[in-house]
Amino acid sequence: MSDAQLRDKIALVTGAGRGIGAAIATRLGAHGAQVIVNYRSSAEEAEAVAASIRAAGGHATPMQGDMADAESTEALFKAVLDEHGTLDLLINNAGIVKDGLLASMREPDWQKVIDLNLTGVMRSTRLALRHMLRARTGSIVNLASIQAIRGGRGQANYAAAKAGVLGLTRAAALEVADRGVRINAVLPGFISTDMTQVIQRRAGDQVLAQIPMGRFGVPEDVAGLVLFLCSDDSAYITGQSFTVDGGLSIA
Ligand code: NAP
Repeated sequence: MSDAQLRDKIALVTGAGRGIGAAIATRLGAHGAQVIVNYRSSAEEAEAVAASIRAAGGHATPMQGDMADAESTEALFKAVLDEHGTLDLLINNAGIVKDGLLASMREPDWQKVIDLNLTGVMRSTRLALRHMLRARTGSIVNLASIQAIRGGRGQANYAAAKAGVLGLTRAAALEVADRGVRINAVLPGFISTDMTQVIQRRAGDQVLAQIPMGRFGVPEDVAGLVLFLCSDDSAYITGQSFTVDGGLSIA
């Protein structure tokens, strides 16, 4: 894949100050995209991600926006379109966990996960489509999770939200396929980030024993797949879900 693969494409990566989002932003920036590094609270981290993309010769701007909040999300999309005039790539990466057994799960913990991980993805996809459908081009990549398929003890809220993202991806992709817009989903397994720190600390060896490739993933393992789904190399692929899990789902 050439360095200029995404030259001049405008890419919005949500939750890109750290973790998988930061790796995706960095990878897209290295391949020529002008990256909007969205963050909710990690302002310094997002500025550092943008600065490192610029230091490597790319273009990147940090932009605040709470993807669980309708007004804030609309303001972010308005700012992106006002500044760049277009949006070619949207990576719905922002996500949270609020784990707990369903029998005792508090409703706010259910709702917060659904609000960001599912409703937030719907909202930003809809805002992006309003522009992409007119432009008749665009690629949207949604970060789901293998827990969408596996379930996951203590993750009924998270698994339900991520399974919802898979349905949303397929239905929305079908609606816009004839208008030049593609929508796909990525299902990471266990990737070493802040999100998985607790489980790695408490049950790292048990989880590791289940992963055929014998290691946790790193954010860059996911970023390569997202780059592919953003590029013209995947021009005939839409409505699909791709697992990146070191073989966990086939074990
Ligand atoms: P992480 O390290 O916990 O980072 C989460 C990111 O989401 C942060 O950049 C955070 O930004 C952002 N975020 C949280 N709430 C937000 C909001 N309301 N608005 C905007 N941004 C918000 O998580 P990660 O491991 O990189 O996960 C990234 C995505 O991959 C998530 O969708 C996650 O569900 C999915 N995933 C991860 C794994 C894994 O093993 N790590 C596996 C499967 C799927 P601030 O710091 O600015 O709040």
